[in-house]
Amino acid sequence: MNMQLLESILTAYGATSREDGVRAVIAKALEGHVDSLTTDVMGNLIAVRKGDGTGRRIMLSSHMDHIGLIVMDAEEKGFLRVCNVGGIRPANMIGQQVVFENGAAGVVFADENEKSPEIRHLYIDVGAESREEALAIAPIGEIAVYAPSVKKLGEHRLSSPAMDDRIACFIQAQMLLDLPRQVKNEIVAVFSVQEEVGLRGAQTAAFAAEPDMGIALDVTGVGDIPGHENHVPMALGKGAAVKIMDRSLICTPAVVDLMLDTAKENGIMVQREVLPYGGTDAGAIQKTRGGVPSGVISIPCRYIHSAAETVDIRDVQAAYELLLAVVQK
Ligand SMILES: [Zn+2]
Repeated sequence: MNMQLLESILTAYGATSREDGVRAVIAKALEGHVDSLTTDVMGNLIAVRKGDGTGRRIMLSSHMDHIGLIVMDAEEKGFLRVCNVGGIRPANMIGQQVVFENGAAGVVFADENEKSPEIRHLYIDVGAESREEALAIAPIGEIAVYAPSVKKLGEHRLSSPAMDDRIACFIQAQMLLDLPRQVKNEIVAVFSVQEEVGLRGAQTAAFAAEPDMGIALDVTGVGDIPGHENHVPMALGKGAAVKIMDRSLICTPAVVDLMLDTAKENGIMVQREVLPYGGTDAGAIQKTRGGVPSGVISIPCRYIHSAAETVDIRDVQAAYELLLAVVQK
């Protein structure tokens, strides 16, 4: 695993709709290793590896964007008021350090006396002493994301605020770098934008790609943490997850079977996934045009949408191996 590439993908700024920094890192890594590399109108980065003409066209999608808080206004004393871009739990934001695209830093807190703070009770302190100064540092419309970091936890685990979904961007990029010269299937690997606000990038990319099959790569929730009551079966360290259902799609049974069979044949550790919440780019791919058989390879992740999204490297390795095997089938 190319840890240097992983770190640069995890630490690049890339709020939803502002994915340019992530796209630049990935494009640089892939240059010369794929048959074409383009950016579409939405901002999706699309890397194509041509097949030998005997296979099918497979669309892959990993999203580059990252949830954040968008500046709405500032108070006289210089505190920025915000709303969310993507799913944010206020409790996860309070006390966190954030950064803007221009590099400005801030800290997030909630109104003092609020017992159960909502997004409208959050503010960002960027060190400004007036409304004018605050909006000069971070104008209305700028988006703050968790300050980048990558921390190793214990022997096998890695924690970063941007794991969703940069870990999948990394797996997808690494797969393209390691793919043999001659492949049967054509691979249209999309590094998508605006997933967190409703799978918007994947929607247009899927329409344009006209794939025979779609596979999204994304993180998924786990039930192996204290107090979890959703009966979610996934856990860290038990392998890649093969999604069966989430709120955006019920995966095409033939695609699920293809993944499970491929894992078995190659001795890759996998777990079956039913997620009673959330969605992925596969939900958009499946419903494009006349319908596309679609599935998801998931990376189990603790504390999704917090500043400490945590994955197990063994699961990352399994997801990588499964993807590499599936696209060559
Ligand atoms: Zn995601």
